Amino acid sequence: MECIFCRIVAGEVPGDIVYQDEELIAFRDIHPQAPTHILIIPKSHIASMTDLTEEHQALVGRLILLAKELAEKEGISASGYRLSVSTGADGGQLVPHVHFHLLGGRKLDDQLG
Ligand code: AMP
Ligand code: ZN
Repeated sequence: MECIFCRIVAGEVPGDIVYQDEELIAFRDIHPQAPTHILIIPKSHIASMTDLTEEHQALVGRLILLAKELAEKEGISASGYRLSVSTGADGGQLVPHVHFHLLGGRKLDDQLG
C-alpha cells in the first residue's frame, strides 16, 4: 500500500487519531500550521476532490458535520476556524488521498492562497 493516509487507516503508520467510525477518520496533522490542525478523511481511498461523485454526497456531508463537531470539541467553535481542501498541483495537494484541513486556535491569514 503506497498511500500514507490509507496506511494510517490500516493502522500500519501511527496517527494521532481524534475520531473514527466506519467511513471517516480524523487525526492531527504531523506538521501543524495552527494550534488545532486536524485532517479529516474518508477511510476509503479517494484521490482528490476531482474524484468525488454523487455517490459520495452523504459521505461528504457527514465529513463536514464532523468538522463542525470536532471544532466544538477542540474549543475553537466560538473563536472561529477554517476548513480547507487542497486539490491537485495548483491547489498544493501533496497527499493524493482527499483530506479536509480543520485549522483554528489562532487568527489565520486573510489570504487563501
Ligand atoms: P496537502 O498539502 O493538503 O496535501 O496536505 C497534506 C498534509 O498532510 C500536510 O499538512 C502534512 O503535514 C500532512 N501529513 C503528511 N503525512 C502525515 C502523517 N503521516 N500524519 C499526519 N499528517 C501528515
Ligand atoms: Zn489512500
